[in-house]
Amino acid sequence: MAELKDVKGIGPKSLSLLNKINIKTVEDLVTHYPFRYDILERNDLSKIEDGEKITIDGKVESVPILMRFKAGLNKMNFRLVTQTGVVGVSIFNRAFLKSQLGVGTGVTVIGKFDKGKNVITASDIKMGILTNKIKIEPVYHCTSGLTNKNMATYINMALLMHGKDIPDYIPQEYIDRYSFLNKKTALNVIHNPSTSEKLKEVTIRLKYEELFQFMFKINYLKQQNKKEKNGLVRKIDRKELDKFIKKIPFSLTNDQMNAVEEILKDLEAPSRMNRLLQGDVGSGKTVVAFTGMYANYLCNYQSALMAPTEILANQHYINLCNFLKDTDVKIALLTGSTPKKDKTDIYKGLKDGSINMVIGTHALIQDEVEYNNLGLVITDEQHRFGVHQRANLQNKGVKPDVLYMSATPIPRTYALTIFGDMDVSTIKERPKGRQKIDTYVKKNSEIKDVLGMMYEELKNKHQVYVIAPLIEESENSDLTTVNELREQMKLAFGDHYKIDIVHGKMASGAKDLIMEQFKENKVQILISTTVVEVGVDVPNATTMVIFDADRFGLSTLHQLRGRVGRGTSKSQCILISDSEAERLKIMEKEDDGFVISEEDFKLRGHGDLFGTKQSGDMTFKIASIKNDYKILLQAKKDSKEYLLNKDTDNDELKQRLIASIAES
Ligand code: ADP
Ligand code: MG
Repeated sequence: MAELKDVKGIGPKSLSLLNKINIKTVEDLVTHYPFRYDILERNDLSKIEDGEKITIDGKVESVPILMRFKAGLNKMNFRLVTQTGVVGVSIFNRAFLKSQLGVGTGVTVIGKFDKGKNVITASDIKMGILTNKIKIEPVYHCTSGLTNKNMATYINMALLMHGKDIPDYIPQEYIDRYSFLNKKTALNVIHNPSTSEKLKEVTIRLKYEELFQFMFKINYLKQQNKKEKNGLVRKIDRKELDKFIKKIPFSLTNDQMNAVEEILKDLEAPSRMNRLLQGDVGSGKTVVAFTGMYANYLCNYQSALMAPTEILANQHYINLCNFLKDTDVKIALLTGSTPKKDKTDIYKGLKDGSINMVIGTHALIQDEVEYNNLGLVITDEQHRFGVHQRANLQNKGVKPDVLYMSATPIPRTYALTIFGDMDVSTIKERPKGRQKIDTYVKKNSEIKDVLGMMYEELKNKHQVYVIAPLIEESENSDLTTVNELREQMKLAFGDHYKIDIVHGKMASGAKDLIMEQFKENKVQILISTTVVEVGVDVPNATTMVIFDADRFGLSTLHQLRGRVGRGTSKSQCILISDSEAERLKIMEKEDDGFVISEEDFKLRGHGDLFGTKQSGDMTFKIASIKNDYKILLQAKKDSKEYLLNKDTDNDELKQRLIASIAES
């Protein structure tokens, strides 16, 4: 295939500019799709009302008259003959156009029409008349030194010279089935659309192609994982396990039981477990994960549980020790703040197998940690791993079974795409006796009410979380800060209650200490950034107050809200914001995390739901996971059918699709 530098017109300088915006091959260039189109549709002078926007083409009839004002301002006037009459045109600050606007020159004028004066005040003048009634102009992402026009020229030259060599990732049978245009034609149309109907048609085709390629990858990875019988085979002693489950101080919900059952089946099966356990905050995922770990222990394998923060690792450790207190299981906690000597002992214990379960942060599965027989890895808040990282999660070549836990219910589209390579267990049902958390949206001017509500709870010996988006003041923002709130809260409550703060920039030891004090009710008001978002469990906290709530996605707010309502008392969540009331009102009505995450997704896309690594997996050139759900479903179905179709095993395209997975 030809190289970018072989395209006529692309010299060393433009080559490096193109490289700068990640266009490295001819294929990259011709799939550098316009991010929008400017539609120029010729209007009829008589049909445009006074003050309306107008686009009209014609020929310059009079020599433009240029007027210069002070401060570099200038204005130019000329008359234009159009198909529907003569009109005056004036434009500011385009003195440089004068030499190009000779009498008889064809131009297209875009501006506002003053019907009384019969003058258009132009915002733009484009050289050339419209050859059709409509002209659709592609607009590209460019970079300084590379204009939109350059980009269009290079793309069209590349298409002309090499258009037929650009690979198509849709198998012929699907091209036929949907009567798609061939790739070259589709590319030509997307860069030079003649009508919006044609444009729409090829857009669907190119989106489908991109999603087909993506879903093929997901399906392929899943199939490979299932095919490779490289997982550990276990025989779980169900009687022993049942005895253990009976001793849990509450009975598991049906959803929890089903999830446990699915995990046990995976553990027993010869292929490797790659399962996502999703459930709303407080739905009780932890106990399901712990039961899986215990089953793994009964089969004499080690388990590792990874948490995203030390606070959570500590909490899981305490809970797990408590959960397994009547057993002989040896459990260790390994985090950044574990003293060196203890670390050495833990490494030794993991290597010789005397430690059965270990809880910690990411460091747990790095290569310097050696296990005796690691059988199960559980990661809490899975969204920090991308598709490929998941596929590679292992330790010293050992591929343990993997369970991912997510407290952010995942919108349907995502469940299909980003987690499409995984099996999914979902816990919807909440443990019995949970109360709905009352949620209120308040304005900053209503702060007195809010303090009053807090005071009522504090008087009843309950505790309060207060969340702010920032730690300290920054120059270009007037968002509420944690430090500022501390002063405010001290003024209001400082005489009677203890107030403290935690935030992400604190040393983790200090953070844990304060969390611990909050848990023990030595601190009544905890002011924090979103570090408390995940998993922290303090049942006596009944009030969550969130400042600048509009700064957060609904899923994040839902997570934060889930920090309260963990005990038997009625709990409340107060969202403070002067804007975006509509969006926040959803929180007042809705307490189902699945519904909220769908809403959030509709409003904000996936940025708020996932870490950057996964977002990286999800960057498409033309498709949008948010808007192209139907195409996605079809592409999913088709790519799976194609993958499973034995007749196509040696097909060149299939090999190319598989090869492209490794590259991505
Ligand atoms: P999450 O799914 O958010 O991780 P947790 O696992 O932390 O939720 O569970 C929240 C709380 O509910 C914990 O205190 C846990 O002990 C309790 N819990 C879990 N399952 C049940 C159940 N079936 N019945 C009663 N309480 C439960
Ligand atoms: Mg949890």
